Amino acid sequence: MRILIIEDEQKTYTYLSTGLSEQGFVVDVAKTGEDGLHLALHSDYDVVILDIMLPERDGWSVLANLRGQGRQTPVLVLTARDAVSDRVKGFNLGADDYLVKPFAFSELVARLQNILRRAPTRPNPIISLAGLELDISRQRATREGKKLELTAMEFRLLSLLARRAGQVLSRTYIAEQVWDMNFDFDSNVVDVHIRRLRAKVDDPFPSRLIQTVRGVGYVLEQPSE
Ligand code: CA
Repeated sequence: MRILIIEDEQKTYTYLSTGLSEQGFVVDVAKTGEDGLHLALHSDYDVVILDIMLPERDGWSVLANLRGQGRQTPVLVLTARDAVSDRVKGFNLGADDYLVKPFAFSELVARLQNILRRAPTRPNPIISLAGLELDISRQRATREGKKLELTAMEFRLLSLLARRAGQVLSRTYIAEQVWDMNFDFDSNVVDVHIRRLRAKVDDPFPSRLIQTVRGVGYVLEQPSE
């Protein structure tokens, strides 16, 4: 079992990695949110232990990005933040469990085992609607059975629209989710990418799935007859 610990406090990650190695886990440690996200996206872990207060990128952002990019690796949030609103935020962002520091090591192990027991039953994340099918783990998309040749960026954009099908997404929201921009950006960037995406997803087919909502943004929905 491979486990990734994203934690900046030396005392904590040393304690965790020693203890979990003794339990038979193969342990990697990332000491910043940025490193943690990179490892979680580019390696395969059975579970991630995620601190919230981290340098470079906080744990909320790590979790949101991981889920935003379709990664379903189980995440246990381990933090000193014990407010109900924090726990709710963690679960809403896609955390599998939440444990407050200070914690008992035996409880952490029990929770990890519980997460790992549930994990294999997770279905492969496949989004399917209106003839469109997205295989998130393999980054493959088809429409009416025809393969769509998408760049990684286009796949991310399409999977965001598909996961939120029926909801109008603003350009700002799309930019934050797909490009992780939370600074001023040129909203034309979104329009340009939507146009490229449409050329592949919509133009070759009789109906349009990606709709423009004037003055607001974009929505993916089944065209009305
Ligand atoms: Ca911390």
